Amino acid sequence: MPDASGSSNVPSSRPSAVRTVTLLAPCFNEEAVLPAYYDRVQVLAANHPEQAFHFLFINDGSTDGTQGILDSLAAKDPRVQVIHLAANRGHQIALTAGLDVADSDLVVILDADLQDPPEVVSTMMEKAEAGYDVVHAQRRERAGETWFKRTSAAVFYRMMQRLATRAWLKDCGDFRGLSKRAVQALRHYREPHRFMRALALELGFRQCVIVYDRAPRAAGETKYPLRKMVKLAVDAALGFSTAPIRAIIWLSLVLWCVSLPYLAWAVYDKLVLHHTVPGWASIVMLVVFFAGLQLFCLGIIGQYVARIFEQGQRRPLYIVMETRNLPAPSKD
Ligand code: UDP
Ligand code: MG
Repeated sequence: MPDASGSSNVPSSRPSAVRTVTLLAPCFNEEAVLPAYYDRVQVLAANHPEQAFHFLFINDGSTDGTQGILDSLAAKDPRVQVIHLAANRGHQIALTAGLDVADSDLVVILDADLQDPPEVVSTMMEKAEAGYDVVHAQRRERAGETWFKRTSAAVFYRMMQRLATRAWLKDCGDFRGLSKRAVQALRHYREPHRFMRALALELGFRQCVIVYDRAPRAAGETKYPLRKMVKLAVDAALGFSTAPIRAIIWLSLVLWCVSLPYLAWAVYDKLVLHHTVPGWASIVMLVVFFAGLQLFCLGIIGQYVARIFEQGQRRPLYIVMETRNLPAPSKD
């Protein structure tokens, strides 16, 4: 497990020089915030003249002016690297596209909306130099987020902590620093429904947690409507937990415990007491209830089966349309 303070479990056996840093930001319709983001990361780079910085942007099929802004930044600043994906594939896939090309000693994933303050990257660089491979950033405050977002996130992280088949870190999003070898290891994970933060935790290596205050979004609107939040939660629950399937078994046991005595009573009533069972309504109600329950359980199993199906198709996770200041996408 990562060390929560990041200080006691010192991995001094492998202090490593951080000479190059890539800041990886996925962008979906972020035209409103990109200029401010670029200004902030430039200041960060200027404060660390001994490191070479790359600003890597993954344009996740934006339909606003994001593409034009990124192209003009790339034209004037060779540190800006851009991948334009052919279509919107979602935040987690956009991150993957970035990790597939990022080639620095430290790769930091952060939101383009400045909710993850670039200044925290300095602390991540210190941790990386001390030899940590994965530096998780844990949110202490979530300024500017709605009550619904904070509450749903709190419920989700606590639920996953109980259900997950592996270790789980609460209040850590995708803001994270990764060493070169951690990034290379992450590239081996190719499942289509991905939850990058849990994959990073699962990697092993040397991990630590630093704490930060999450800022409000600098401009623009959240690109995570309820629909995408639910999808992310389902991907996490089904990808990292078998609890739903186990819950089905428990549920069926409970129902057996309830229905078997009822059956015994009905038989006794008929054969010994010679009552005809009145009450079609209760029978119909039970039939409907159990039919619904069975469909629900089938649905859960179907979710897992669908994942097996999609995994079997081995489709590409994303398609690169164009790049800037990076090698062109391969033709094969
Ligand atoms: N994002 C993306 N593709 C999507 C949705 C979001 O690349 O389909 C990016 C978005 O531009 C941002 C990051 O993922 O840089 C996190 O999204 P957002 O800030 O909207 O989520 P929130 O912080 O509100 O949860
Ligand atoms: Mg955000």
